[in-house]
Amino acid sequence: MAKRQGRNRFAYFAPSMHAGLLEKLDLADDLRGAVERHELQVYYQPFVDLSDGAIVGAEALVRWPHPRHGFIPPDRFIPLAEESGLILPLGYTVLEAACRQAAAWPGLKISVNLSPRQVQDPAVVLYVQQTLARSGLAPHLLTLEITESLLQEDAEVAQHRLGELKALGVQLAVDDFGTGYSSLSRLHDFPIDVLKIPKPFVDGVAAGAEQSALARAILDLAAALGLGVVAEGIEHAEQAAELHRLGCEVGQGFHFSKAVPAAELDALLPMRLGAAGR
Ligand code: C2E
Ligand code: MG
Ligand code: MG
Ligand code: MG
Repeated sequence: MAKRQGRNRFAYFAPSMHAGLLEKLDLADDLRGAVERHELQVYYQPFVDLSDGAIVGAEALVRWPHPRHGFIPPDRFIPLAEESGLILPLGYTVLEAACRQAAAWPGLKISVNLSPRQVQDPAVVLYVQQTLARSGLAPHLLTLEITESLLQEDAEVAQHRLGELKALGVQLAVDDFGTGYSSLSRLHDFPIDVLKIPKPFVDGVAAGAEQSALARAILDLAAALGLGVVAEGIEHAEQAAELHRLGCEVGQGFHFSKAVPAAELDALLPMRLGAAGR
């Protein structure tokens, strides 16, 4: 339709759409500057042993303190970074910071999110290897979280690349498993170690057999395939208890702690999180 209107097609953009587009371009520009000036920060959300509340690891989550708009949520700027290619320098900044930090937390596992664009980049393998070497972090302590959509689109590249990453000795986790329409039969083709149960599935746990069915299905699947499981978005003690009862060993969520700066996680390390009375 826009095409047939020829030169007049711009008349069909409502003023509000135009403003939205300009705002997006502005933000993309600001993001480029923030990446170049190293203004992005890395926060850490603990992973907890559901049997006793001990911290066993943490997920690195990027934070952008914008000088005028305050903290902008990753869900808003990660897609922008993906579109512009900025996700590569951004992602490597996070990986570098997280590995250095984790090397100072002996024995703790660290998870870093990799966007599909990063996995498609052949340089990612050497980059991860060099970052591990520079930081001194043992490879088995690093988990790379990939999106389920990666396994679906571009499956051949993903399979090859994930194999190369796996050969470095790192662990691979599928983030938000079950929300991305990958076929279950494909799971076997990838060297995956861990499935992460997404928050919407965790929300239903402890609310009854039907509501908890999806979380239980992932736990059963993981057990059958010999994979680890991490439940995300646990907000209530009842969910933590029920997940533990269902065989889930590790959890993450506001019930235990939100993502915090490294120094704050330091202070949490000796504690048992989510225990009654806290
Ligand atoms: P994700 O990797 O699935 O991370 C979990 C998100 O859920 C985080 O949001 C975390 O703060 C939030 N969360 C954790 N526990 C709870 C809870 O109990 N309740 C609620 N309501 N939320 C909880 P965050 O930090 O805003 O990140 C959103 C997404 O942005 C991440 O989802 C991830 O996909 C992406 N992201 C964040 N950092 C990076 C990064 O460094 N690189 C890439 N590629 N993506 C990133
Ligand atoms: Mg994640
Ligand atoms: Mg997730
Ligand atoms: Mg999520």
